[in-house]
Amino acid sequence: MSFSFTSIPQYHQQLQSGATTCAAAVEYFLLQIKANMHLNALVAVFEQEARKQAEMLDASLAAGNALLPLHGVVIAVKDVICIKDQPVSAASNMLKGFRSLYTATAVQRLLDAGAIIIGTCNCDEFAMGSSNENSAYGPALNADDTTKVPGGSSGGSAVAVQAGLCMLSLGSDTGGSVRQPADFCGVVGLKPGYGRISRSGLIAYGSSFDCIGAFGKNVSDVALVFETMAGHDPFDATSGTQPVQHFSTKANDDTKYRFAYFESTLTLPGLDPEIRSAFEALMEKLRSDGHTVEAVPFDLLDFIVPTYYVLTTAEATSNLSRYDGVRYGHRSAIETADLTEFYKHNRSEGFGAEVKRRIMLGNFVLSSGFYDAYFTKAQQVRQLLCSQTATVFSSYNALLMPVSPTTAFTAGSHSTDPIAMYLADIYTVFANLTGIPGMAIPLFQHTNGMPFGLQVMTNQWDELTLHRICYYLESRFAKDAV
Ligand code: GLN
Repeated sequence: MSFSFTSIPQYHQQLQSGATTCAAAVEYFLLQIKANMHLNALVAVFEQEARKQAEMLDASLAAGNALLPLHGVVIAVKDVICIKDQPVSAASNMLKGFRSLYTATAVQRLLDAGAIIIGTCNCDEFAMGSSNENSAYGPALNADDTTKVPGGSSGGSAVAVQAGLCMLSLGSDTGGSVRQPADFCGVVGLKPGYGRISRSGLIAYGSSFDCIGAFGKNVSDVALVFETMAGHDPFDATSGTQPVQHFSTKANDDTKYRFAYFESTLTLPGLDPEIRSAFEALMEKLRSDGHTVEAVPFDLLDFIVPTYYVLTTAEATSNLSRYDGVRYGHRSAIETADLTEFYKHNRSEGFGAEVKRRIMLGNFVLSSGFYDAYFTKAQQVRQLLCSQTATVFSSYNALLMPVSPTTAFTAGSHSTDPIAMYLADIYTVFANLTGIPGMAIPLFQHTNGMPFGLQVMTNQWDELTLHRICYYLESRFAKDAV
């Protein structure tokens, strides 16, 4: 039985007409995974479980039951999200061999809606990185050009969709880890607003920033997966109680939107001129379609990356203290009678260099002599950003920004310079600092051959407008863009 995938509705039509089966879909993706092992996108494949689930779903359809919303949709999940009895390691030697004791709420909702989880995806260790090079499994490679990084930290999840190893995938986005790899790999990447999707079962990095997000080939598939996962969860007190709308229902309206952008994001010295000109050309097209596109003042651009790294390292330091080799994690073979030495050995051996750097930085910014100068100051900047954001959305529907200042960079080119790597997050950390939703949609192709996208952000809890705008941009510009 032949199989090809373009969208969930197209797949469901084929299931209903009998042109394909869930089993055929699973076999197809298992073959694709085997043929693309060199990309190092997946770190575990759930072959038996996926086959069994496909069989059950096919039998249910054959018995005359209705299609479930995500019937047979094959999804890969970043290695920071728990699935009961399956390995989860956050791409760290610290958690190698660990199996989840429970299933993340987001994944459980997907399973309840008929999804098939095919495996787990490579990422940067504990989701810290922008290139997927900080992984205990080795780097994942960009399928468009294997000398380039796929972005990070959810690099494997982006590549899994880019290379057609699954239909959709899940990532996590603390500072851009869904949107930036989506940008580098030419796929759609959604970071929902903070609190939209339960964090229960997501390995914590920066708890006031972390969001589960999704990758897909098109906006509508991502919306369907998103609305399935969204909504309050008693296991996560920070998950919102706002009603979940049908983000995947396309609106056939010709709304004229009011778009804002920050001038300073386009005059950034490190911004690739081609990305800038594609962005400006798109703004012109939006204007000629009758939308309003205006520059709004924003003088905090220089502060957002430092603020993000002060606050997230502080939170990471606290979250990662649980990996001590007693409650969780790697236990060193070195014998010692001293408890502090014991912890030191376990943590020194278990964590990689970038994670250690951030634990040290986090401890520094929280230490008594420096707390006010760094942590308190960064909280104040975050507050300022939130109030400026509220002002923007009081007169505009959406904020437009590039996703990254460059297209996918060459593997190894940033790995000895952590500051250069951190600065690559300049356009993505804004949404995490302010808690608003953002989506990266692939609209452009650089003359260097790599794809890149546009980032759209809307007000908190306004994913409906986000999706409507992104459907419009996708259908209007995805084909004929610069
Ligand atoms: N690149 C950012 C970091 O290293 C974002 C990571 C993320 O969103 N998980 O922190």
